[in-house]
Amino acid sequence: MSLKILDTCVNCDVCEPACPNKAISLGEEFYVIDPDLCTECIGHHDEPQCVVVCPVECIITDPENVESHEQLDLKYQHLMAKESVA
Ligand code: SF4
Ligand code: SF4
Repeated sequence: MSLKILDTCVNCDVCEPACPNKAISLGEEFYVIDPDLCTECIGHHDEPQCVVVCPVECIITDPENVESHEQLDLKYQHLMAKESVA
C-alpha cells in the first residue's frame, strides 16, 4: 500500500530527500506522495523512510491504495527497470 501525507504536514522538507523512489514532492499546500512511485520503501529499506523522518507523524498508509507486498515488490522491479533504461 502506498503512503499518504495528511494535511497536518508542516512542510519541513525532510521527507522529500529521504525517499529512495523520488515519490515525494511539494503539492499545492503541503507535501504529497505519488502512489505510482511509492513502494513503502520495499526494495530499499526495512521501513518507510518518510515515516521514520517525519517529525509530526502525519504520514499514514493510504486506505485507497491498498497493495500487497508482492505488488509493491513488482512496482519496485518496474521502477528499477525504468531507471536502468533512462
Ligand atoms: S514509503 Fe518510502 S517510497 Fe514511499 S513515499 Fe515514503 S520514503 Fe518514499
Ligand atoms: S516530513 Fe512530515 S511534516 Fe515534514 S514535509 Fe514530510 S510529511 Fe510534511
